[in-house]
Amino acid sequence: MNVLIVHAHPEPKSFSSALFREAVHQYRRQGHTVQVSDLYSMNFNPVASAADFSTPINSDYLNYALEQRHAMSEGTIAPDIAQEVDKVITAELILFNFPLYWFSVPAILKGWIDRVFVSGKFYGGKRIYTQGGMLGKKVLVSVTTGGRSDMLDEGGIHGDLTGILKPLLQGSLGYVGMEVYEPFYAFHVPYLKDEKRQRILDDWGNVLTNLEQRPILDMPDLEHFDDRFYPIQQ
Ligand code: FAD
Repeated sequence: MNVLIVHAHPEPKSFSSALFREAVHQYRRQGHTVQVSDLYSMNFNPVASAADFSTPINSDYLNYALEQRHAMSEGTIAPDIAQEVDKVITAELILFNFPLYWFSVPAILKGWIDRVFVSGKFYGGKRIYTQGGMLGKKVLVSVTTGGRSDMLDEGGIHGDLTGILKPLLQGSLGYVGMEVYEPFYAFHVPYLKDEKRQRILDDWGNVLTNLEQRPILDMPDLEHFDDRFYPIQQ
């Protein structure tokens, strides 16, 4: 299997980076092809801009999605984007590993999605969800938090973390057609004892070994919507 691991933590000795290394180690040991995008160490540029297009259709007014389509068809999109697009296209399983920043992904990862999930190839028109461009790929998200599990659960002060991450889980990954595994959460990480963190690493190893058995999140099924995305009365 071809696995892509996208990691976004600025500190290589962090616990999040330990989860990343464990995933790389596990999949390599199992004989899989592992591609890595360690975004901070790559100094990945997360800023979507006109500089991404060397042969723009309109150099006076930037329509980012239209230019993405054009540059992809011409083969002229910025090389750092092209490289990441190729990694995603060849991957069968993709892991996203990051610390929760402001109820969301670190900006470097948000920018990676903005620039790499190119219009046309990943999605476009009615090619979303069950007809998305990345159909057939599976994806697992792993997140470390400062907050406790009860704070990030239904009825807790912030609400349940899977709901909080809807812009990522559904709005990006599900949207382009990927099957999204139930995420893996490591809560309250900086405040735990070392033994507890070690147990989380063990749990993480077990999740990766038995990933096929992990539930897949529900996503909208286009069968239930008409061609203008109005719900079909059942
Ligand atoms: P670290 O602090 O790097 O690690 C914790 C401890 O684990 C360290 O002592 C480290 O030495 C140790 N460690 C490293 N490797 C291992 C290992 N192999 N085994 C055992 N121990 C190890 N939190 C929220 O809950 N909600 C938010 O909205 C939120 N927003 C944030 C926004 C910003 C900008 C920032 C900076 C933080 C935010 N946080 C938030 C907190 C953040 O999510 C947590 O601090 C982070 O997820 C903790 O993970 P870490 O990997 O950075 O931990």
